[in-house]
Amino acid sequence: MRSVLALIWKIFLESARLLNASVGVHPDYENITEPTVAQLVELAQHPKVIAIGETGLDYFRLKGDLEWQRERFRRHIRAAKATQKPLIIHTREAAEDTLRIMQEEDAATIGGVMHCFTENWDVAQRAIEMNFYISFSGIVTFKNALMLKEVARKVPLNRMLIETDSPYLAPVPHRGKTNQPAFVKHVAEEIAKLRETSLDEIATATTDNFNTLFRLPHTSLTTH
Ligand SMILES: [Zn+2]
Repeated sequence: MRSVLALIWKIFLESARLLNASVGVHPDYENITEPTVAQLVELAQHPKVIAIGETGLDYFRLKGDLEWQRERFRRHIRAAKATQKPLIIHTREAAEDTLRIMQEEDAATIGGVMHCFTENWDVAQRAIEMNFYISFSGIVTFKNALMLKEVARKVPLNRMLIETDSPYLAPVPHRGKTNQPAFVKHVAEEIAKLRETSLDEIATATTDNFNTLFRLPHTSLTTH
């Protein structure tokens, strides 16, 4: 069974020319066989695997004793350090524990991205100090997301990423619909507006940052 899965994984990665992959077990998956560091490392060997994650903590969806989540998060950080591939970190209502574990496991030596960021500027700053990028989703376009808009104004341009979190979190003016990659433009437009700069500047910076973080060749981008 394991070799069949490994084969499917290999065929998928090699046929999807424009896609890259990351290896991880999301913190929302409860009651599953826990992945070991060795398993994560093994699956991450393929050259199209550019990151470890999503991983992290989610105290919003799941309640109770979540020590297993913290342990799983630690194993992902160890796998990232072993493979030298950056982390994609999810944190929801768990910022303090997330930062503490990142510190304890020395996640700064490998770095990564705080994906779909929803925390305040203090949390953003502490993640940036640990060599992480801050990634904004469609939430930043929502009218009531005032705290997040403030973070988007303050994050240094060379630490910023944008994302869809598709199929969720479609940005205004598509809020409530199924999200898709094309809609990420609205996230960039909102951030450009908040920072009083051009869409081109945000698009270029976030594209460069993506390629730097995930060690991909730098490509130019057109926003038209
Ligand atoms: Zn997530």
